[in-house]
Amino acid sequence: MSNFYDEGKKIKGQWEYLDTSFIKPTENCDMCDNETDLGPYTCSICLIDTLSGIPNVKYTDECEWIIKRGKKRQFNKTYK
Ligand SMILES: [Zn+2]
Repeated sequence: MSNFYDEGKKIKGQWEYLDTSFIKPTENCDMCDNETDLGPYTCSICLIDTLSGIPNVKYTDECEWIIKRGKKRQFNKTYK
């Protein structure tokens, strides 16, 4: 199991990666891009805007989104 860090501190508990690819690029954002070779790209600022404040979701020091283990279904139901 991997360890995740938030501002240098190890995040306690069990977490897993959160797939953020469902979040759509922001239309009038200069850094988002709807048509890259790899598909739509949503910039990290827009991701933070969309996802911060959502319970059981964190942004790690490694710039990855994680969710508390066991909360994925509830998240998908509410936000997807
Ligand atoms: Zn953006």
